[in-house]
Amino acid sequence: MTRVHRITNLLAVVLPFIAFIAAIALLWNRAVGPTDLAIMAVLYFSTAIGITVGYHRLFTHRAFETSTPVRVAFAILGSMAVEGSTITWVADHRRHHAFTDEEGDPHSPHVGRRPGVLGAIHGLYHAHVGWMLSGRHGRASAHRFAPDLVKDKPIRWVDRMFLYWVALTLTLPAVAGFVLSGFSLVGAATGLLWGGLVRIFMLHHVTWSINSVCHFFGSRRFDIDDESRNVFWLALPSLGEAWHHNHHAFPTSAFHGLKPIEKLADPTGLLIATMEKVGLVWNVVRVSPERQAQKAIVGV
Ligand SMILES: [Zn+2]
Ligand SMILES: [Zn+2]
Repeated sequence: MTRVHRITNLLAVVLPFIAFIAAIALLWNRAVGPTDLAIMAVLYFSTAIGITVGYHRLFTHRAFETSTPVRVAFAILGSMAVEGSTITWVADHRRHHAFTDEEGDPHSPHVGRRPGVLGAIHGLYHAHVGWMLSGRHGRASAHRFAPDLVKDKPIRWVDRMFLYWVALTLTLPAVAGFVLSGFSLVGAATGLLWGGLVRIFMLHHVTWSINSVCHFFGSRRFDIDDESRNVFWLALPSLGEAWHHNHHAFPTSAFHGLKPIEKLADPTGLLIATMEKVGLVWNVVRVSPERQAQKAIVGV
C-alpha cells in the first residue's frame, strides 16, 4: 500500500468523524432541521442500497441478473457511499469470502489475534477500520478476484469515474439544502454537513460493523467453518446485511434473512423481490428450506 493510499484512507475515516463531532456541536445550537434530516435519510438509503443490492449481492455474489442501466445505476449509488470504487470493493470482499477468518482474509478480527481482552479489542479495531490503514494484507488484486468486472466495460467506466461520484455525493445534499431552505447558504452548509458528511460517516461505520461485530458477537446456526454471526440489532440499519452468518452459509443467496422474522428485517432482500416482481431483475438466487436444513447445526 502506498503512502498516498494510506493517507487517503486515514482521511476517509477521520474526516467524517470530525464532521460528526461538529454536527453534534451544531445540534446544541439547533442548527439542524427536518429538511437536513430528510436529505440525510434519502441519501443514506440510496447509497446503502448501492452497497447492499449493488456492490454486495449483485456485483460480488451475482445473486440476481439485471440490465446494464440498472447495473450502472447501482454501481454509481454504491460509489456514492465512498467505500471505494466498485471493482476494488468487490475484489476485497471476494477475498474475504475466499479466506474467511484465516490468513489472507483482509479484515478478520481473529487472524493473528493476541490473547486477552486487549487482543480482542485490537482484533475488532483491525476488522473495523485498521485493515484499511495498516496495509497488513495489501488490497486484493482486481485481476485475480474480479476478472468479470475488469472485462465489463460499463462497470469499468463507473469505476474509473469514482472521484466524480464522490464529488456528486457531496454536491447533491448541499444543492438540495440550498434550494429547500429558500436559497440560503446556511441551508447549503447544513445540507452538506448532515446529508453529506454525517451520512457518509454513519454508513461507513454500519458497513464496517459487518466486518467486525458480525464476526465476533451474535448467533450462529449453520455448520460452517468461520466465525460469522447473525446480529439482529444491526439488521435494520445495515438493510439486512447483519444476517451475516446466513450470508456466509449461502453467499449467493439474494436474501440474507432466511427465517420469516429475519426476512422482514432484510430490506435489501425485500427490495430485490419487489424489483423481481416488476421485471427489473431476474434469475434471483433462493435457498430452499431443504438446503438450509442440510447445513443446520443439529440441536440449534
Ligand atoms: Zn464476513
Ligand atoms: Zn458477501
